[in-house]
Amino acid sequence: MKSIRIQPVGPATFQIDVVCDCGANALANEKTGERSLRHEVVLGDVPEETHAILFCERCGKRYRLHPQWSHFHVSDEPATDGKE
Ligand SMILES: [Zn+2]
Repeated sequence: MKSIRIQPVGPATFQIDVVCDCGANALANEKTGERSLRHEVVLGDVPEETHAILFCERCGKRYRLHPQWSHFHVSDEPATDGKE
């Protein structure tokens, strides 16, 4: 990713905006399809299957928002060519 904006909105809640390598922002949440500058992350013991995956509709790159108890990770996620 090019940059990340992190806005605290509560003791364990953050709103995250990831700017893709291609320069696009307002990425889409892969599960809900919602495009937003404010993807919410709540810290805690979040099971992997519920991690948010942000998807760039312009170039197809994906980024994972991975909350843990005291912090969260934002990482590149492999492309899923052929995924339905
Ligand atoms: Zn992109």
